[in-house]
Amino acid sequence: MAIKITVWNEDNPLESSPDVLKMYPEGLVGAVADMFQGAEYEVRRAWLSQEEAGLTEEVLADTDVLIWWGHCKHWMVPDEIVTRVQGHVLRGMGLMVLHSGHESKIFQRLMGTQCSLRWHEMNEKERIFVIEPSHPIMRGVPLHFELEAEEMYGERFDIPAPDALLALGWYHSGEVFRSACLFNRGYGKIFYFQPGHETLPSYHNPHVIRIIQNAARYIARDRQLDRELHSDFAEALEQL
Ligand code: ZN
Repeated sequence: MAIKITVWNEDNPLESSPDVLKMYPEGLVGAVADMFQGAEYEVRRAWLSQEEAGLTEEVLADTDVLIWWGHCKHWMVPDEIVTRVQGHVLRGMGLMVLHSGHESKIFQRLMGTQCSLRWHEMNEKERIFVIEPSHPIMRGVPLHFELEAEEMYGERFDIPAPDALLALGWYHSGEVFRSACLFNRGYGKIFYFQPGHETLPSYHNPHVIRIIQNAARYIARDRQLDRELHSDFAEALEQL
């Protein structure tokens, strides 16, 4: 059965800035959506200016993994949509939060912290060290690889201790960062992955693409489990 993926971005891809479109002709939503080709995936693209921020009840009920990229417009996402997404995650939908999605309302809500971090934009070299090579998300990924240019995200990253810490990023300026983190919330899994500044080529890197593909498969909603969810739990979630 195909994994149903919804790739969400705050920008309508056609209205992305020229610098973004130069790097990613179909915007970030297109860059990420294009990582999922073939019959094993059903991919939908959604963005903020659509009705109900592109995340209607029908869309989320038909989504196994929601991939979230946002930066400047986190505050524009309506709270009721955040609550709706939270409910779907707790019922089993996977959520992948990329790069500057760290301060999105939905990630803050699910973490219970500010999710702030230190940063500077110097387009410097980043080396990513895989520290859990046996984890399915890191299958086929070398023990370390380099991105020639990324935005520096540094500690302290204000998140609760991840249920699994899969990779660390080191930057030429000497900073370090927990760059690949996995969390469990309710019946759902949440994966945060740091690379992906909008004007830099990280989403063309084969190792970054591999990690995002592996993660989508790993965190996808377990539809069998979804059907078996205890009704009391489902009712409690409706009170959110
Ligand atoms: Zn950035």
